[in-house]
Amino acid sequence: MSNCVIVGINWGDEGKGRMVDLLTEKYNVVVRYQGGGNAGHTVVNEKGKFALHLLPSGILREGVANVLGNGVALDPENLCAEIKDVRSKGVEGSPDDLKISDRASLLLPWHRDLDALEEARLADRQYGSTKQGIAPFYSDKYQKKTVLAGELFYPDELRVHLRELLEWKNLTLTRVYGAKPYTMEMLERWLADFCEPIKPYICDTGAYLAKAESEGKNVLFEAQLGALRDLDFGIYPYTTSSNTTAAYAPIGAGLPSLRLTDVVGVVKAYSTCVGEGPFVCEMFGAEAEKLREAGAEYGAKTGRPRRVGPIDLVATRYGVEVQGATKLALTKLDVLGYLPKIPVCARYRVNGAETDRFPFPTELEAAEPVIEYMDGWGCDISGVRRWEDLPEAARRYVRYIEDAVGAPITYVSVGPERDSIILR
Ligand code: GDP
Repeated sequence: MSNCVIVGINWGDEGKGRMVDLLTEKYNVVVRYQGGGNAGHTVVNEKGKFALHLLPSGILREGVANVLGNGVALDPENLCAEIKDVRSKGVEGSPDDLKISDRASLLLPWHRDLDALEEARLADRQYGSTKQGIAPFYSDKYQKKTVLAGELFYPDELRVHLRELLEWKNLTLTRVYGAKPYTMEMLERWLADFCEPIKPYICDTGAYLAKAESEGKNVLFEAQLGALRDLDFGIYPYTTSSNTTAAYAPIGAGLPSLRLTDVVGVVKAYSTCVGEGPFVCEMFGAEAEKLREAGAEYGAKTGRPRRVGPIDLVATRYGVEVQGATKLALTKLDVLGYLPKIPVCARYRVNGAETDRFPFPTELEAAEPVIEYMDGWGCDISGVRRWEDLPEAARRYVRYIEDAVGAPITYVSVGPERDSIILR
């Protein structure tokens, strides 16, 4: 059997969903193991265009089972909306296709409120949260102040637990933020409207995955966001609140003893970043606007324009290391076709000295990019399907990146569609 994890090497939005959608062909099970509905994968295939937030991308392939592991932020409200959306486009989305871990914690209605209230309090010092409640959710999970999905099957105990949480959380809502308190009636409505519909999907996914493993099934793990947003190894505090790294997959999926056979790191041919935080290679002005337009770089969840820059070899090399990537997929190479010269952030300059090591977060504010230029290919490569048919300048760009970051690029993506891919 093979256990492969697909992870982001950069700040997220690298095109992981597109790679999972391509690779699911060879896999029986696709697992999401961290994060919530705060980012989005965009997948384009014969069924249409999908913006998936919490659902694993394997939901779009018939015969593939999908798992939401214990490590995810399970937001029943968003999940119901997403299931409804994919069903309206002809995807079955039945309990046979989707399994939710009974050990996944539930994102409660107040987590979204707390996210928005805290960002408002921070005013011009915001973290750039998507306000989906992810940070308050994970803080509460680690404080042991959320509810496990499996508790939905124990209604009496659940109500006692929810009442305790409600009393505790209302203190913060009303006395810290001056916001309105929640009532049990509100929670009852939430249970009826959003939790009841997801109950048929909830099961012991650890046991399900262990059985799949013993039967020799192939399992694909799908990460959200990228290495630089990892809570422990990213650009803290401008990270997400979970571990986006491959090493977390066995834990967040529910099979802590699992060994991964492959780590596919997804790298974009240039850089993008949504939200706040240091982004050393950032470009501005007309140059940035052109790249943003060429790559349609607007957030899948928020529609926010993404910050853009050239590929950052320092950050990418660090991302490859943190992820332990065994191979890379380079996406959106087609987007660079309009550039006569392609800028590359080769090193950083920190306090007057050049470095190729990714600095400690505090030092990132002082880092400046050292930009070099490579020849562009100046043509549309979106129709190319074979490595040898790529213009020499494009091949040189790909080889240069893999040499610089220390892992082989085995997939080159030249378009959003499933088959717009070059295998090396
Ligand atoms: P993810 O969260 O890592 O899956 O990334 P997103 O879905 O946020 O962003 C990737 C975007 O790029 C999506 O709109 C994809 O359809 C699109 N995309 C992925 N690969 C390619 C590619 O090779 N070329 C082009 N032009 N678009 C791509």
